[in-house]
Amino acid sequence: MTSGGRETFLFETHPSPMAASEREALLQNPGFGRVLTDHMATIRYSEGRGWHDAKIEPRKAFELSPSTVVLHYAQEIFEGMKAYRLPDGGATLFRPDANARRFTNSANRLAMAPLPEDLFVESVRALVRTDRDWIPAAEGASLYLRPFMIATEAILGVKPSSDYLYCVIASPVGSYFKGGAPAVTLWVSENYTRAAPGGTGEAKCGGNYAASLAAQAEATREGCDQVVFLDAVEKRWIEELGGMNVFFVFEDGSLQTPPLTGTILPGITRDSLITLARDLGLTVREEPYSIDQWQADAESGRLTEAFACGTAAVVTPIGKVKGRTRNFTIGDGGAGPVAARLKATLLDIQNGRAPDRHGWLDRLF
Ligand SMILES: *Cc1c(COP(=O)(O)O)cnc(C)c1O
Repeated sequence: MTSGGRETFLFETHPSPMAASEREALLQNPGFGRVLTDHMATIRYSEGRGWHDAKIEPRKAFELSPSTVVLHYAQEIFEGMKAYRLPDGGATLFRPDANARRFTNSANRLAMAPLPEDLFVESVRALVRTDRDWIPAAEGASLYLRPFMIATEAILGVKPSSDYLYCVIASPVGSYFKGGAPAVTLWVSENYTRAAPGGTGEAKCGGNYAASLAAQAEATREGCDQVVFLDAVEKRWIEELGGMNVFFVFEDGSLQTPPLTGTILPGITRDSLITLARDLGLTVREEPYSIDQWQADAESGRLTEAFACGTAAVVTPIGKVKGRTRNFTIGDGGAGPVAARLKATLLDIQNGRAPDRHGWLDRLF
């Protein structure tokens, strides 16, 4: 029962969890998002009753009416975060309060019932503690957590749903890119935009991803790894990738990243890297940067590196940029030293190898 966001989780242990030997074999090479743990967290909402029925239960399929709102009108939001192994065998979350706050903001934008933030954090903690044996220990590996919420009212009329299901699933993941981070090639999309002013660009919702897939397919056809989106109004300012924010590094050692003006997803990795770069004495500007300027600076050598960042892939160097009328290389086309240093600084904190000066870790056990 809800009382100011305080809810007791009912624990229903899996009657037949995966055998330890099978689990250990999967943890050797989990890939990304293929393998799920034994349990899931769920909490239900209904109008009048509020949030109730918080559970850690065996992971199982949902049963939904074919008229369920989420299936027709895409009223859905999600989060992405990780639990990390610590050198002493313990485990930690990284800034879960920031994910909780962003989940509230996304819920408000999609006209969904906001989940109390302490309940969000508690659900993630409870699931990771239950499935603690699933956190991989290999370098670069972690337990990826996917909290999400769907509209569950069964009605075809268009309106915000009266019922919601919140759920957290967990997936052990290896390094996003095997053998370190190779530099990626970006495709500058001219046919598609990701987010317009007043749209859902700063909400983490499945609909944004559905809308980005045709652009991603175009990038793949053009032999590129990822799309970089320009702003929807002037088609000139760099915004972000389909699921990662972007940074630029200049020869004077300063960094720049597009400002959060409503059409860009406010990444927690982005925010953390800004803080860490400033801790290292680097200048960071949150200012618009145009695609033409990017090309000119890459060609003149004023720009020395560019990289993408997000929870899943951490820091990914950008080596080349292609478009209908452009094709340029950044630096020598490989990984640069500033990106490498920031990545190592962040990973050292997340894995408990460096002091947590900003109070970002939420130790679980
Ligand atoms: C999740 C996401 C990011 C990265 O956010 P993090 O909190 O750093 O993981 C960036 N862009 C988009 C569109 C996203 O959905």
